Amino acid sequence: MIKTIGVIGAGQMGNGIAHVCALSGYDVRLTDASEEALNKGLEMMNKNLDRQVSRGKIDEADRKAAVANIKSGTDISLHSDCDLVIEAATEDESVKKAIYADLCPVLKDEAIIASNTSSISITRLAASTDRPGWFLGMHFMNPVPVMKLVEMIRGIATEDPAFQSAKGVVESMGKQPVAAEDFPAFIVNRILLPMVNEAVYTLYEGVGSVSAIDTAMRLGANHPMGPLELADFIGLDVCLAVMQVLYDGLADSKYRPCPLLVKYCEAGWVGRKAGRGFYDYSGETPVPTR
Ligand code: NAD
Repeated sequence: MIKTIGVIGAGQMGNGIAHVCALSGYDVRLTDASEEALNKGLEMMNKNLDRQVSRGKIDEADRKAAVANIKSGTDISLHSDCDLVIEAATEDESVKKAIYADLCPVLKDEAIIASNTSSISITRLAASTDRPGWFLGMHFMNPVPVMKLVEMIRGIATEDPAFQSAKGVVESMGKQPVAAEDFPAFIVNRILLPMVNEAVYTLYEGVGSVSAIDTAMRLGANHPMGPLELADFIGLDVCLAVMQVLYDGLADSKYRPCPLLVKYCEAGWVGRKAGRGFYDYSGETPVPTR
């Protein structure tokens, strides 16, 4: 029975995961290595909870109860009473492995560890811990409080009771779990990012302008956002990193990152967060750059 959930990393994903766990009635332990990042994460979470209240999605009592469910700090031993710990720290294998090395000795024997990694092998991460059978991937989508899907990834050693417990948690949050095997980029990014990359090739080869490509996919395929708009939203650096993982991991030329995507990253034009990507965000409305 899972009652207490730990979240490691209070960044974009971690504060969202802590938010939905706390709103679903779990006791939450949120930690980050940096005090500053932790405070920023808590601030973001409070802002998002307030927004949900003002939009009538939750009431004031839900917000209060959620906030009361959260304990936070920078000390990893805060996770000692957790039944499940979801690690959402920086996407760097050595950082994650170092976290597990500190975490395992303070954890209960029967506690489950999940990683929110987008691209690192769950099997490899699990093998670095003292509990590969009790380790799995829980890949939340951004922004966590809004997006319904959680990809659930079994490493080769993941045992079914651990998988089922974690799946129960996802369902109790009102989210939809989908099982994926442990191959590069899992399901969503395996399908979505090659489409985005192909849109960049379409631009690179001059088949269409930025607005022609986005309008075509919005109105012709009924996508809520055009692929280049979406690339700017995700971050072009993240798009490139995922394509590189697919290209290296599957050794198939169809995953070759578009040279124009590489060039934009080299220029630092990595999308919304940089103020410029396939669109320029310096004015009131985004302006296509090609
Ligand atoms: P982020 O940079 O916003 O947050 C990472 C946090 O980890 C930072 O606050 C950092 O201080 C903290 N951290 C670094 N080292 C740590 C340590 N040793 N101990 C504790 N905390 C530490 O990153 P993010 O976008 O939230 O991504 C986190 C994870 O979620 C990554 O594995 C990423 O691949 C995955 N993910 C990201 C997205 C996305 O759209 N951003 C979507 C799905 C999954």
